[in-house]
Amino acid sequence: MNPRRLQGFRDALLAERARLVQEIEEVEPEPPGQTTYGSQAAAASHVSAQQRDLALRDRAERQKAQVDAALERLEEGTFGRCRSCGDPIAEERLDALPWAALCIDCQRKEGR
Ligand SMILES: [Zn+2]
Repeated sequence: MNPRRLQGFRDALLAERARLVQEIEEVEPEPPGQTTYGSQAAAASHVSAQQRDLALRDRAERQKAQVDAALERLEEGTFGRCRSCGDPIAEERLDALPWAALCIDCQRKEGR
């Protein structure tokens, strides 16, 4: 893959990483015991909001781990190769998902 293409993927990965880090920080749950609730209902809705935030953060952290792994592959020079079969990953796939670790065939196999 030519260096300009690789640089483009690196930029995309770093931008995605920055976005995820911000997302993870934004949903940092507040420390317990800081808030007093006027009613049971307020407390309950706060709890469900917290659960939603945790789920969001969980997803963002998993995504960030994929982005970090892709950045490592860039450093190692294995970026753009399928982690499973070693074939090149289609560049259109990398354009859409620069953190993709598997080619479309292996992704399908692993997906289900
Ligand atoms: Zn593959």
